[in-house]
Amino acid sequence: MEQLTHFINGKRVAGTSGRFSDVYNPATGEVQAQTPLANAAELEAAVAGAAAAQPAWAATNPQRRARVLMKFVALMNRDMDKLAEALSREHGKTLPDAAGDVQRGLEVVEYCIGAPQLLKGDFTDSAGPGIDMYSMRQALGVTAGITPFNFPAMIPMWMFAPAIACGNAFILKPSERDPSVPIMLAELLQEAGLPDGILQVVNGDKEAVDAILDHDVIQSIGFVGSTPIAEYIYARGCANGKRVQCFGGAKNHMIIMPDADMDQAADALVGAGYGAAGERCMAISVAVPVGEDTADRLVEKLAPRVEALKVGPYTSGNDVDFGPVVTGAAKENILKLVESGVEAGAKLVVDGRDFNLQGYEDGFFVGAHLFDHVTSDMEIYQKEIFGPVLSVVRAQSYEDALGLAMDHEYGNGTAIYTRDGDTARDFANRVNVGMVGINVPIPVPLAYHTFGGWKKSVFGDLNQHGPDAFKFYTRTKTVTARWPSGIKEGGEFSIPVME
Ligand code: NAD
Repeated sequence: MEQLTHFINGKRVAGTSGRFSDVYNPATGEVQAQTPLANAAELEAAVAGAAAAQPAWAATNPQRRARVLMKFVALMNRDMDKLAEALSREHGKTLPDAAGDVQRGLEVVEYCIGAPQLLKGDFTDSAGPGIDMYSMRQALGVTAGITPFNFPAMIPMWMFAPAIACGNAFILKPSERDPSVPIMLAELLQEAGLPDGILQVVNGDKEAVDAILDHDVIQSIGFVGSTPIAEYIYARGCANGKRVQCFGGAKNHMIIMPDADMDQAADALVGAGYGAAGERCMAISVAVPVGEDTADRLVEKLAPRVEALKVGPYTSGNDVDFGPVVTGAAKENILKLVESGVEAGAKLVVDGRDFNLQGYEDGFFVGAHLFDHVTSDMEIYQKEIFGPVLSVVRAQSYEDALGLAMDHEYGNGTAIYTRDGDTARDFANRVNVGMVGINVPIPVPLAYHTFGGWKKSVFGDLNQHGPDAFKFYTRTKTVTARWPSGIKEGGEFSIPVME
């Protein structure tokens, strides 16, 4: 059995806590490796190494720091196939989707290569007699991030790339479900010239997370994962005086107006609903056609497309639309929710419950499901299923459809399909959701914009990547300086103001 490791001070380090977690191959259901689960002492070693290395890194010219990231991009491109294979083997997603996971992270690294420009401060000459005033962005010190299983390459990079570019050290606690790729990325960064200790990868579960939350030296925490854990991390991290941003779960609605191109909408829904087996925080899990006729036309187009989806292991290459879900427990949970939908009276138009893949009977495969006539009081509507299950909720009017998206507790992403500019514009302006697509089903912003939801999908102020990341990973310092120092003004007893 392969024993995985942590990555501390520039090398792979075996776990010493004596606790391990099984890492599965979701396609076969076999345990393929064990990952160590760190205790507080192991975290302490990682933090000490990071704290020792960070001041010299922060003092390194930002262009030199950016060059390390530039080399890192080249190395990721060199090793893309290897990274994608390791990612698919632990996560289950198809190889093209795994390469996309690496690529969307890599794009944020490319953005961070602009650090010398992004970190430039402001300067006011002659703010007073002989007085200049300038602001600069300084690194926080040792920062940390806790990431989910569903994007084991992209989300760690969304955090550590800006953190490192800004001159911080970063402690990454990846998901224990698929921990190999984060270690491979740390090794590539070291090969690119990153000093030892600046990126530490500490594998673990709640014990390691709690140690991070309570560690005095750690200045900031980024979290991406489910909403209950996001809430917990935000509350405990803030109570401990840290800067915290947490991104949680989702239930993304797509509104389909009567004038929409129904083939385009159905194709979009199939990709956005079932891609990566629905294990994406930006997956569309609710389709809201407006009007009975629109709903009938949509379901008629959707059903054959969903039935035709090909489910299989990543080793089948491009012949597969989506792979297994991540664990047996995830599969069980999805099928339980499907049963609850049937019991609540939703119509299961495409029933994937008996899906079985010959030769992979023990794999965590879940067939595609399509529900129609779902209502807002049902559990399958309220909960994030995180599986290949799409619910059609029929709305009688545009206002009803908008109201559904507005009233749901999550507000990560949403989309509208229409040919009418007025409706699209009204939707984009009014909907209380962080990322909106107009005839685009998965509106994930590119690296130089920012990513983040609203409502229970987020806890904290700033978004991920783009300019917000450079704010999150730095503190502003403003200096007021008087030169020449010889100017005499006498004592000032009241607050200086501009007259
Ligand atoms: P998760 O919340 O189970 O785990 C996320 C991280 O938290 C992991 O590193 C895990 O080890 C840690 N963790 C789990 N339980 C913990 C506990 N009790 N105390 C402390 N730490 C704990 O999430 P997941 O299943 O890995 O990922 C799927 C979830 O992530 C979905 O809800 C999805 O919507 C969400 N997600 C959100 C975004 C976003 O940007 N909003 C992006 C990707 C995924």
